[in-house]
Amino acid sequence: MEIFKAFTLEAAHRLPNVPEGHKCARLHGHSFRVEIRVEGELQPGTEWVMDYADIKAAFEPLYRQLDHHYLNEIEGLENPTSERLAVWIWERLKPALPQLSEVVVHETCTSGCRYRG
Ligand SMILES: [Zn+2]
Repeated sequence: MEIFKAFTLEAAHRLPNVPEGHKCARLHGHSFRVEIRVEGELQPGTEWVMDYADIKAAFEPLYRQLDHHYLNEIEGLENPTSERLAVWIWERLKPALPQLSEVVVHETCTSGCRYRG
């Protein structure tokens, strides 16, 4: 069974390594939608994989670092593509959330990526 919890965070970024004239080189912002997915067996009695509140608590310190920040200024996000952001979240969340199975980052309504470690 896999469960997920979605978060919306507002953040600015620019992509420093795109070809000259590319629109993503300019400073701009997104309402990123991040899904944290967790895999496991149903727990007898509760009949859930885990408490959604525990997913929220595990992601909270990262959320505070990202929300309403300029991503390029965060260590490890100097080139903050959706892909890099998904890896950044995975590497920091996995130790606190061992059942983590996937990080999904929606940069816009129609673009995003999935990372499974
Ligand atoms: Zn962008």
